[in-house]
Amino acid sequence: MSDSIFEGSVGEEHFIAKTNTFVEVILPIATPKPTYTYYVDEQHLDQVQFGIRVEVQFGKNKLYSGIVAGIHDKLPKSHTPKAIVNVMDDEPIINQTQFRLWQWMASYYACTLGEVMNAALPANLKLSSETRILLNPDYGDDFSDLNDREYLIAEALTLQAELKIEDVRKIIGQYTVYPLIKKLLEEGVLYLKEEMLEKYKPKTVKCVRLAVPYRNQEELLDEAFSKLSRSNRQVEALMAFIQEARKEGDVSKVKIQEIAGVDSSVTRAIEQKGIFEFYDKEVSRISKYGKDLDAITSLSDQQISALTELRTQFEEKNVVLLHGVTGSGKTRVYIEVIQAALARGEQVLYLLPEIALTTQIIMRLQKMFGDKIAVYHSKLNSNERVEVYKSASAGAPILIGPRSTLFLPFKNLKWVIVDEEHDGSYKQHDPNPRYHGRDTAIYLAHLHGAKVLLGTATPAVETFHHTKTGKYGIVTMKERFGGSVLPKLEIIDLKDQTKKQQMQSHFSLPMIEGIKATVAAGKQVILFQNRRGYSPTLRCESCGWSSECVHCDVTLTYHKHTNKLQCHYCGYAKDIPKECPACGSAKLHMQGFGTEKVEDDLKVYLPELRVSRLDLDTVRGKNALLNIIQDFEERKVDVLIGTQMVTKGLDFENVGLVGVLNSDMTLSYPDFRASERGFQLLTQVSGRSGRGKERGTVMVQAYDTNHPVLQEIGTADYGSFFAREIQERQAFKYPPYHRLIKVTLKHKKPSVLNTAAKIYAHFLRNKLGDRVIGPAIPSVSRIRGYYLLDIMIKLELNAKLISFAKKQLHAAAQDVHSERGFSTVRINVDVDPN
Ligand code: ADP
Ligand code: ZN
Ligand code: ZN
Repeated sequence: MSDSIFEGSVGEEHFIAKTNTFVEVILPIATPKPTYTYYVDEQHLDQVQFGIRVEVQFGKNKLYSGIVAGIHDKLPKSHTPKAIVNVMDDEPIINQTQFRLWQWMASYYACTLGEVMNAALPANLKLSSETRILLNPDYGDDFSDLNDREYLIAEALTLQAELKIEDVRKIIGQYTVYPLIKKLLEEGVLYLKEEMLEKYKPKTVKCVRLAVPYRNQEELLDEAFSKLSRSNRQVEALMAFIQEARKEGDVSKVKIQEIAGVDSSVTRAIEQKGIFEFYDKEVSRISKYGKDLDAITSLSDQQISALTELRTQFEEKNVVLLHGVTGSGKTRVYIEVIQAALARGEQVLYLLPEIALTTQIIMRLQKMFGDKIAVYHSKLNSNERVEVYKSASAGAPILIGPRSTLFLPFKNLKWVIVDEEHDGSYKQHDPNPRYHGRDTAIYLAHLHGAKVLLGTATPAVETFHHTKTGKYGIVTMKERFGGSVLPKLEIIDLKDQTKKQQMQSHFSLPMIEGIKATVAAGKQVILFQNRRGYSPTLRCESCGWSSECVHCDVTLTYHKHTNKLQCHYCGYAKDIPKECPACGSAKLHMQGFGTEKVEDDLKVYLPELRVSRLDLDTVRGKNALLNIIQDFEERKVDVLIGTQMVTKGLDFENVGLVGVLNSDMTLSYPDFRASERGFQLLTQVSGRSGRGKERGTVMVQAYDTNHPVLQEIGTADYGSFFAREIQERQAFKYPPYHRLIKVTLKHKKPSVLNTAAKIYAHFLRNKLGDRVIGPAIPSVSRIRGYYLLDIMIKLELNAKLISFAKKQLHAAAQDVHSERGFSTVRINVDVDPN
């Protein structure tokens, strides 16, 4: 084919096309089209390939780093494409399989490729006009290795904490700066500003070696020992060194001190005597697991048969559910699966619900697998994230993390383990893509020809349904490891307790007695209240006024610690009014209670107990979570009070009692998953009790003591819970029998919102009939100043219908946005809401 000659424009310059090569580029923003066509001029011709980043102009004057998703020779008919400005990579940063996953997600979750790209790539790989750069303090102030332009940027950053891309352009007097910034990022001179920036982890560890002459002449060691002979502790430390030095690699100073049981004054003393020499060893930014690995424990009979059963099931099925009661030892089974995979050289992805809550599991796995594990979590800084990202494509054996870990560029992925597969935090609520980590992982595995192991004590209704239909396999572990039995359940009737006047604040008499007896017997207690703060409502007794957020349709929660009323949706906070703003009465009282109040009250009724609290408010600091867990593990605390954070996979062996203070609240979510969530939450929290040798107890305080879920958790009877629940799902056209799509429209003006929602619903109803429900006002009808309306769509499981419906959603949105004054209505589409 001959070169097509045409004219186009980039900014001000004109160019004559000399090639007929075009690329399709995904931009990291929500755009109407999946990709945009750009022209490749001669200069970049041999550099473009699939998966690399190119710098392109989009919109009026914005530059983005987009990804090349395709190369072709078709000149677009509608317009003359702009030329790419720069090629940023020599090698692709995504592979074809990742791209196929992105495409699937964009289509399944009804969003754009750019939005998927945005979620998928670590920040450092996405430069845009909004990017801000900072100097990396670890790099130091020696800029002698930098070239002139690099130096100018670094120098500017010593004077000014951060720079915008705009500033960089001015400083070096040129328009295109991404390649330069990219290089500085890779060299560790810069990093990108992010909202939650954790302090940099040190890149070096202090190591110890023998000083000359001892290093080269072993026979002099005797002399060294005699120099130290007056201090036992120094001798110990030298022995520890010799022992460690026999192993491979460098010997860390901390390690020696640990083995010898001495502090740094001892190693320093040896250094001063000219026997030790200290040096800094560079380590990867991805923190290494420095400790000895645990020996592997032998499997229980139940675990052995589960593994045999898994092997058989995986011969036929690609997805198998490991349904094991709490404490059955599922983690040990995962470990076995991982080891077998590693022996075959296969890569493993291990997904966990929110990472902060599962430190215990990661620590357990690290004790097994050490540095074979790369953890990909939000607390890594942007450079570290890129390192883990790259390590995946280099074939790192085990990648572990929350849902976003599934975006890594896997090399030889053969196993995906989804731990606690039922957990709601696998779903991304905001922003797009609103994807489910478990479901996306199953598609990812399909693309790689990998197997998926889903594990939980309380399967999602959808998952269990798939085992019933034969789509997934299932392996069950009914008993707890080590013969401990599931706890005994006691339901406490709060109506009855109130009548008998036995309530002390929110504690029934049996609960108080139970806590006392448990602690007296040397055991620990976990108390669960699914609400943080002190009290969720401040109400006026005279006129009924209650303190509400100015931006959201919710009451403000009183936090005693800060002595403020706070909004849990938008963070708004204000002081407590002395009198009712509506009627002036001074009779304001607190209604309802959260974890903070439980803690406070308990200190009043049982002052001798050591109490600690685990909720969003107490885990804000860097190591706060770890400290709370460790203190409880080390039995420095008698009673741990918490929100649903205490339900998530924690394994403490000394817990004798779990108390649920208000089960009614947990069982009354206003949606079709209320029962499911309640069952899961209560079973999981109960599962923390009696993991040691003696049987534990669970006490549940309830007004509605006849709720079926309360009976079902008592017998840990997932079967009867499921049988009841699945019937309702079928009868009311809910998943897994129907697919749900929830559309939320938002606007600051209620009138605009109402009309927009009507137009939208009307449009859809014309196409989809009574599958469209709403618009309806959600239970929280205003958040951060935006009014909300929900439209729910219930679709039969028919692929054609579903894809037709998604197209209509798009068209309906366009219909709304084309009306005058309605372009600012936000329309969020959530496929499989939960
Ligand atoms: P689950 O995840 O199924 O709730 P865990 O994996 O936390 O259960 O196991 C429960 C407890 O039993 C843990 O303390 C774990 O260390 C212990 N355990 C499980 N399997 C073994 C084994 N084979 N050998 C020794 N301890 C085990
Ligand atoms: Zn009042
Ligand atoms: Zn608010």
